[in-house]
Amino acid sequence: MLGMEGSDDVVTKNQAENAVKTLLEYLEGDAQREGLKKTPQRVIDSWDEIFSGYKEDREELLQSTFNGEGYDGIVLLRDIEFHSTCEHHLQPFSGRAHVAYIPIDRIVGISKLARIVDAHAHRLQNQERITKGIADDLETYLKPLGSAVIIEASHGCMRCRGVKKQNSVMTTSAMRGVFFDKAEPRQELMQLLQSRPL
Ligand SMILES: [Zn+2]
Repeated sequence: MLGMEGSDDVVTKNQAENAVKTLLEYLEGDAQREGLKKTPQRVIDSWDEIFSGYKEDREELLQSTFNGEGYDGIVLLRDIEFHSTCEHHLQPFSGRAHVAYIPIDRIVGISKLARIVDAHAHRLQNQERITKGIADDLETYLKPLGSAVIIEASHGCMRCRGVKKQNSVMTTSAMRGVFFDKAEPRQELMQLLQSRPL
């Protein structure tokens, strides 16, 4: 098993590959043609990467901090691209995350903000839970004055099936601390997000 928190290894890699083989047989009857022969193995191998978030230690990630030397402004990492998988249909969804916080004493290495996005995105997910999960982790492990997460994503299950809308983008946000309590820091964050990229 890939490492779902708190679960035992009840399904082996071999059993998972056989399950994929069954799905291929559901589609085509015989799944032995050349192009499909190694597909079950390839699918399960690719899951190690696509679902690597189950193995990430988010606490360790966000506790890799530095002295902020009195910096008390907004730290914003925007346009963090991510890919995730919808838990309802196993369809991909992808987009951009913007992650911000206002430090108290400690600042976190900037790549860690990108990695915390992937730690949540690389699981079976919905966009709301990713958004909330990143904000909750920032609050729990970094303990900033405030944190904010805004995610814009396009969903495979909207594009390829059901209502078949190609260009719809879903936006979600989670505001914590001063970003939730006060209009000024929230407005400053929105202005930073609207400013032109370099
Ligand atoms: Zn879906």
